[in-house]
This record gives sequence, C-alpha cells and structure tokens, in this order.
Amino acid sequence: MGQDMDGKIALIEAGGTKFIVAVGDDARKIHARTRIETTHPEKTIAAAIEWLQQQGSDYAAVGIASFGPLDLDPASPKWGHITRTTKPHWSDTDVAGPFARELGCAVGIDTDVNGAALAEWTWGAGQGVNSALYLTVGTGIGGGAVVGGRLVRGLSHPEMGHIRVPRHPGDTYFAGHCPFHGDCLEGLACGPSIIARWGASLSDLAADHPGHDIIAWYLAQAVQSFQAIFEPARIIMGGGVMATPGLIQRVKTHAAEGGAGYFAGDPAEIIVPPALGEDSGLLGALALVCDRPSEPE
Ligand code: ZN
Repeated sequence: MGQDMDGKIALIEAGGTKFIVAVGDDARKIHARTRIETTHPEKTIAAAIEWLQQQGSDYAAVGIASFGPLDLDPASPKWGHITRTTKPHWSDTDVAGPFARELGCAVGIDTDVNGAALAEWTWGAGQGVNSALYLTVGTGIGGGAVVGGRLVRGLSHPEMGHIRVPRHPGDTYFAGHCPFHGDCLEGLACGPSIIARWGASLSDLAADHPGHDIIAWYLAQAVQSFQAIFEPARIIMGGGVMATPGLIQRVKTHAAEGGAGYFAGDPAEIIVPPALGEDSGLLGALALVCDRPSEPE
C-alpha cells in the first residue's frame, strides 16, 4: 500500500448500529455506498463483502475504520480483531481477515476515532500542523492523536475518553455513566450521561441550564490534560454533543481560564470543529490505507 494507489479502494465505516460500505479512490471520491445494519458479525461482514464484490473485484486496498476496542498489534495473531466489547456477539471478532481473504488485497484497519483523526490531519481541520488531537463527544467519548504524521499508540489505541477529571462543584451527586469507571470523562460528559442527569440532550436543555457550563467545564479539564501531555497544535472537537450551539466557545473559555496561559497553544485558536463533514467516517477509512504503511495480517 502506499502513495501510488491506482484503482478502487473498499471503504468500511464499521459502527455499532450500522456499517457504511463504499467504493472510493485515493482522490477522495466516493463512487458508491450502501448501509448494512450491524447485527451478527458473520452476517454483517458477509453482507458487506458481497456488496463490495458486486461492485467489482479489482480492489487496491481495504480501509476499515471500526468501533473498538481493536487489537492493532502487528505481531499479534488477533491483529484486526475486535477484542472485548459490551456489544453482544462482537467480542473476539476478526474484522480485517475476511475482507483481506475475500477481496484479496491489503487491509488498513484502525478505530473510527483514529481514522477520523488521521483524515482530519490529512485533509481537514488539522491540515498543515505537526500535531493534532481529534476528540469526539457523543454516545461515548473517544480521542485519537496524530504527531508527525503518525497515529499515537502504545500497547493499543488510546482511550482518551476514559481519563479522570475533577468533579465540577455543581455536579457532585451523579455517579457517572461509564460501565467500567463510573465518573471518568466519558462517564461525566458523554450524551447518555447528560440525559441521565437532566432528562434531555444538551441541545434540548434551556440556554441558561447549568448543564451547558458543567459539560463545557469537564471537556476543558480534558483539554488541559491533553495540552499538558503533548501540546497538540490543534484540538478538533466533534460528535453529536459538540454540535450543541455555544458549547465549543464555552470549552475554549474554560480551557483558557484553567490553563492560565501556561501552555503553548491558546485554546481560543487551537480548539476547532471538524472540517470533513458527513463523509468523515469513510474518509477516515481512506486515510488508513493512504497514509499508513501496510501491516501484516
Ligand atoms: Zn471510563
């Protein structure tokens, strides 16, 4: 895989409720797409492969941006598998293997959030800077980071949504929504945590509801932690919750106050919305095969 990718690229945005499957090319053109409900792994993956085969056979590569967690260790026999997930039937599912076998080409796979981070860095809101962090705040919270053109990972992909944040003084009674940690960042600021506390999504709460400020404050704590860890040149904040009017501005204000001018990046400048719009998931899958060296199966 690499720079000279002639021909079709199979793109899979593998989500917990649906798979978006498409045929694209390295000029970022999407030629055809379909939507397949995420049910049982064998059924869903087989339907995706069948549709792709109906579109042709000469694929140059397959890019998969998947829900996780994923095994991404190139040395692991379980590379390209979903590992332990709370989604029924999907734990220990080989996602990469069937596509590689049936389509006969190399597979690039990573998490959906890492794909989005790489796509935003390559073509979107992180273009032209050496480092970018992408944070999605929606049903869950996830983050991916690109430094010097490469996704940051250690034993596995980062789990930035699960960092600890201090409790907001006006939010001390809620136990938190994360099934693993209770009141981690995701447990305190994801969409379902907002509904659990206040009975409505953030965008449906009245403009003067304290929830707006509490959620912005939590996200600003996270911004400060990420700035302290690696001073990203951009912090791209997307996802359903971030679409709430005024939220990104509140995060910037709290992050600037909390950071006290100590960090190199000014939150007012480095915090930005995503730029790739509704195709960002598929473009994430594309970025995984356009910009990463091939990995063994
Ligand atoms: Zn957690």
